Amino acid sequence: MIGFEDLVGQQGPVQLLVNAFKKGKMPHAWLFTGETGVGKKTAALELAKICNCQNRSAGSSHSPESETGILPRSCGQCRSCKKAIAGAHPEIRVINPSKMLIRIDQIRSLCAELGLKSDEASRRFIVFAGANRMNAEAANALLKILEEPPEHTVFVLVAPDTSDLLPTIVSRCQHIRFNPIAPKDLETYLTDQCDKDHQQAMIIASLARGSLGRAKDMAGQDWTERRRFIIDQLRCLQQQPRGFRHVLAEILAGDKDRLEGIFEIMKNWYRDLAVIKSAPEQIYNRDIIDQVRAGRSEISMDALLEISDALAAAEKAMESNANTRLVIDKLIERLAMSAAGFPLNQCA
Ligand SMILES: [Zn+2]
Repeated sequence: MIGFEDLVGQQGPVQLLVNAFKKGKMPHAWLFTGETGVGKKTAALELAKICNCQNRSAGSSHSPESETGILPRSCGQCRSCKKAIAGAHPEIRVINPSKMLIRIDQIRSLCAELGLKSDEASRRFIVFAGANRMNAEAANALLKILEEPPEHTVFVLVAPDTSDLLPTIVSRCQHIRFNPIAPKDLETYLTDQCDKDHQQAMIIASLARGSLGRAKDMAGQDWTERRRFIIDQLRCLQQQPRGFRHVLAEILAGDKDRLEGIFEIMKNWYRDLAVIKSAPEQIYNRDIIDQVRAGRSEISMDALLEISDALAAAEKAMESNANTRLVIDKLIERLAMSAAGFPLNQCA
């Protein structure tokens, strides 16, 4: 069972939430910003669970002094907690982007729901995962709701930063910044919870760049294999016939759940190639430094700059809801073209 104490390296944000809860001063709207995988959505859902738990422990909303220092906890057993854990609590709603965007239809159907009487829970929570992925129409509709928020309802907007949000929305929210998680905290988590030895934990912590979500993904059985596959393909791209590159694009684009992780592997790889000569101690893929050195000898710095632009353009296109397959196809072609004309590696 997840509780506030299980959020790794976020004592500051958790304390702000706990204070608001204990003092009974829950704002109508929170905005949680920070890197992917640092615990923003988890914190929002835990707050919703605690506020609705029928047997919560420590720090009821009216006894702030008596429970100082003790984090409130949901029981995990009552009807409300069980529904929340199953993701089926009628008063705890998560609005996810549909095909990369939160659209006006989703806000309209939310408005209809908000008009209904709530009876199951003391507080209704609406969590917008990816609040930065709202089109203008949806954002304006949300702003209207926030201007006249319904009673007993808490909105939580989750986003990497405020740059893609309407300033008028940001100003209506209480803003909490979630920090990147310190490598030491990630290492401890990986050794204690994921059975990694010290060396493995250190490598994953450096690759995860402050994100527990990424670290957990990398700690999974098949991540090393996936990274090997992708790096092998990247090093051979310019020698492969076009038909092969299309197939590769199809494979990568088809793995939608892992696409973000695949982009991470690509970005880390090319970033390491760019820094290996000037600052070898700063590379992320430390466990395969020999491959990084070999990879660097196969590509020019100009090509690496072009590739960095291509990756950024592809990510932006995905965020604006472009066709995944076409974006990956174009990316793979650009990577192959950028790398072309340099000494061929020992591609099997
Ligand atoms: Zn409970």
